[in-house]
Amino acid sequence: MSLARAFADRVHARAPGKINVSLDVGPRKDDGYHDLVSVFLAVSLYEDVVVSHSDGFSARITGDIDVAGVPVDETNLAVRAARLVVEEAGWNGGVHLDIHKRVPVAGGMGGGSADAAAALVAVDDLLHAGLGAPRLHRLAARLGADVPFALHGGAAVGVGRGDELTPALTGGRFDWALVSHPQGLSTPAVYREFDRLREGDDAAACGSTAAGDTAVLQALRAGDPRALAAAVFNGLQPAALSLRPDLGAVLVDGVERGALAGIVSGSGPTLAFLAGGESDARALAASLVTAGHDARHVHGPVHGAHIVSRAG
Ligand code: ATP
Repeated sequence: MSLARAFADRVHARAPGKINVSLDVGPRKDDGYHDLVSVFLAVSLYEDVVVSHSDGFSARITGDIDVAGVPVDETNLAVRAARLVVEEAGWNGGVHLDIHKRVPVAGGMGGGSADAAAALVAVDDLLHAGLGAPRLHRLAARLGADVPFALHGGAAVGVGRGDELTPALTGGRFDWALVSHPQGLSTPAVYREFDRLREGDDAAACGSTAAGDTAVLQALRAGDPRALAAAVFNGLQPAALSLRPDLGAVLVDGVERGALAGIVSGSGPTLAFLAGGESDARALAASLVTAGHDARHVHGPVHGAHIVSRAG
């Protein structure tokens, strides 16, 4: 164990946002949940969490994005994550979290889940708890369906609520332009709209394509963006577009500006446009910015939650 490791009293961890490159949603079950089959891709838009010892639990939130809607109290998912690790480790003290956000809030990219995953690994490290991957994964699943993937990173198939993960092989990197929106979408509201559409005349527009998942996994394995573009699928997209019809024109605009495909990310409203390669994605993002959109280039797969540095 190095000296820095032994005496660190501030630990900095980082975790990625995600795109659902396919998302099959089953009907609402009696317990209110929907069974999902999703292929997740972790992308290079990161949340940074720095943790330090404290008497109680507190958080300070900053960001490259508008963070006004993010709670700093015990309802913050990262604070809940920190508390879980402290309890699991039997530690008699608290933790302060400095969270720097880049993933759009309520954007469908799992930003809060990434904060929680980063907090899990950071507090585990700060306390020298040594909980190990299986226990951290169990804590992650208790916090929320997207937290295990933010811990895991890379690409993976998630079933159940999305938290039963199997790693997926990727044969290369995929470059995207993301378009985010100042006004987020509530995930429960999108699922309610999904249920409403499914019960109505638009049932055919919603739901699942088991064959689509296979095509997505093959395209990821082959590292082939064109094949992936033909296979991406989001069963929540009709519901997100129903609540936010303005997104439809942006999807068309992105494809006209050179994207191979455009989809709503998760429950939206962030839009993910797949490009043929890095320079294409950079040019696409620049073109979307010229058109007045809030756009940036990202790539995936990238690593899940990990320690960046220790200090003190
Ligand atoms: P989902 O995982 O449901 O798709 P999302 O990516 O759409 O989520 P998030 O930014 O993760 O959206 O958060 C959704 C809501 O959760 C926010 O509006 C906020 O009220 C609450 N929240 C709790 N903790 C956090 C956090 N650390 N960062 C952002 N939001 C948080």
